[in-house]
Amino acid sequence: MKRIGVLTSGGDAPGMNAAIRAIVRTGIYHQLEVYGIYQGYAGLIEGKIKPLDVGSVGDIIHRGGTILYTSRSEEFKTEAGRKKAIEQLKKHGIEALVVIGGDGSFRGALKLTEAGFPTIGIPGTIDNDIPGTDFTIGFDTALNTVIHAIDQIRDTATSHDRTFIIEVMGRDAGDIALWAGMAGGAESILIPESPTDVDKVIERIQQGHARGKRHSIIIVAEGVCSANDVAKQLKEKAGIDPRVTVLGHIQRGGSPTASDRVLASRLGAKAVELLLNGEAGKMVGIRQNQIIACDIEQILTGHHHIDPTLIQIASQLSI
Ligand code: ADP
Repeated sequence: MKRIGVLTSGGDAPGMNAAIRAIVRTGIYHQLEVYGIYQGYAGLIEGKIKPLDVGSVGDIIHRGGTILYTSRSEEFKTEAGRKKAIEQLKKHGIEALVVIGGDGSFRGALKLTEAGFPTIGIPGTIDNDIPGTDFTIGFDTALNTVIHAIDQIRDTATSHDRTFIIEVMGRDAGDIALWAGMAGGAESILIPESPTDVDKVIERIQQGHARGKRHSIIIVAEGVCSANDVAKQLKEKAGIDPRVTVLGHIQRGGSPTASDRVLASRLGAKAVELLLNGEAGKMVGIRQNQIIACDIEQILTGHHHIDPTLIQIASQLSI
């Protein structure tokens, strides 16, 4: 193998640049040429492809987002679209591809492999919602962004004796809410994986009041309901008048944490090694601090599970 390509797809995540850098430099270390494909699968179809040298990935390890840009492409979901994509890869002499993205991007990567074009996936998403890996690139950074916000809001909550509800990202997975809620000392954490009980939230707030605590922080994952809905229910059911903060897209950006940079570097290096060994249709991941590879097919039929012991501990600690 002489030439490989790399693209980022779907939602951006901090640490994607560190992964691109690792792929380019590991490739060059092994005498490969590495080409960057700009704007995900859409850019691949359009042939937005350029060589990346050692210097082109210099000074990006600390930057959020992705220097290759990202996109969503409906055309790539069609066979005709993927045919154009493979033609572009062949035209540029690219023999294998690394795709950094979430499960949607992996569906595309698997289709390429099935069509005879070897592809490896790297999990890059702040949601941490990919089965088969303990962590995804970007999760730790998003978590730290949320904790920073909670800490700041806590100052006002304690100064004003107020209840605050903070809505965080997580449509199907409550990892950001759970981890940030635990690290931020939230009184209640509402996640899609466990039944939402607003009465329990009220009970906790009232218990706190009974022992002289006048402020509370409640974290809600967007997949449960909106923070405004929770606020409405607290007001109607218990006369509590909380303040609401929806963190939104600030959770996606920012300089990646050391942990995300190291994870991205390890996963990027492993992806190139797999391609050199002739592997395809695999995702690299981390399990118990070991870098592993597993079949994308398995990932796509599996389910991401939140650690139930974390739910238990968070609940025990927020009395
Ligand atoms: P993420 O990778 O963050 O989950 P998306 O779900 O939006 O993001 O997927 C990114 C892109 O992957 C899509 O825009 C599409 O081009 C491609 N993709 C998603 N699902 C499929 C599929 N079933 N077949 C082929 N390509 C797909």
